[in-house]
Amino acid sequence: MTERETGGRGASETGDPLLLTPGPLTTSASVKRAMLHDWGSRDRTFLEMNERVLARIAAMANAADTHACVPMQGSGTFAVEAMIGTMVPRDGKLLVLVNGAYGTRAARICARIGRAVVTLETPEDTPPDLAALERCLAEDAAITHVLAVQCETTSGILNPVEEIATLVADAGRALLIDAMSAFGALPLDAGEVPFQALAASSNKCLEGVPGLGFVLCVREALAAAAGNAPSLALDLADQQAALEKTGQYRFTPPIHVIAALDQAIAEHAAEGGVTGRGARYAENCRVLVDGMRARGFETLLPDELQAPIIVTFRMPVDPAFDFTRFYDGLAARGYLIYPGKLTVAESFRIGCIGRLDRADMEGALAAVDAVLAEMGVTSVTA
Ligand SMILES: *Cc1c(COP(=O)(O)O)cnc(C)c1O
Repeated sequence: MTERETGGRGASETGDPLLLTPGPLTTSASVKRAMLHDWGSRDRTFLEMNERVLARIAAMANAADTHACVPMQGSGTFAVEAMIGTMVPRDGKLLVLVNGAYGTRAARICARIGRAVVTLETPEDTPPDLAALERCLAEDAAITHVLAVQCETTSGILNPVEEIATLVADAGRALLIDAMSAFGALPLDAGEVPFQALAASSNKCLEGVPGLGFVLCVREALAAAAGNAPSLALDLADQQAALEKTGQYRFTPPIHVIAALDQAIAEHAAEGGVTGRGARYAENCRVLVDGMRARGFETLLPDELQAPIIVTFRMPVDPAFDFTRFYDGLAARGYLIYPGKLTVAESFRIGCIGRLDRADMEGALAAVDAVLAEMGVTSVTA
């Protein structure tokens, strides 16, 4: 028996603990190895790599003909802030559909950069209220844009972006999507789901390393947005204009991150693209949820609302269960989980994404058994 089978130790291909988290995530050894070089930012090899990466990202959403793929240095939030600041005009107004921390953050960004913003909130375990959205759009003519989060990573809930997109388009408004934690694993086809802009990043379901965000923007809308952005660094129109004119970034590109992403996208394609990646995550999620339920844990969400990205479990009530000891015990065995961030319930989260497979999830479950026994927990039923 290997250590993994005994719940002994989770380890990545490079021997690091497994990250069962919402990002950064476990990456393959080959993705990390792709960074072991230096490139100049004007170097042809790098520029070709960059063009290939951006083209392949646009192709994943079937957006190559309609949308520009604009890269943005930084974590995912930098791309979201760039998307809002560039696409929502100074006299525009954004309605944010909020059912978790990332929707709340988008609304805060909007307020901070001085754009008018309203929110339509539902609890963290509840999808947006589509009838209320329709009413808001009918009643408030000032609203120009709606922002939806595809998978709200706070709970792991899958929001109905397809229905939201249809409703927003029918009301003649523009849709912005935060697809950060879903892009590359959950399908989203620009030909079927109308959106003006969509933001995601290198280090979630694409399994690259952190450091690059990107925003798919309808080309005409992006051109019309020149001069909107309240920030120079986070101006997507300016970034795109420079890339088109010179092929180069305005400011230092995260070259190693882009090299790693190039390799990660090749591995994504080899796995069967969005379908193959999504299928592996769905299996990870199924093994995890079935296994945790068999041990008495309860998921926050019913299966039909659960995205195969990250799962929220309710904190067991057994006084012998101590989250810090649970976390530390799992970490000592090579499995890093994530605390909950919910207001509706005490919880913790376990991610299904990154370079993880069924055997890793089974190893994590065996580690859960070992830690529960160590704590003397007899019943985890909430
Ligand atoms: C990860 C994530 C982000 C961006 O977070 P960063 O920490 O800035 O990378 C934004 N939205 C959602 C839904 C996310 O999961």
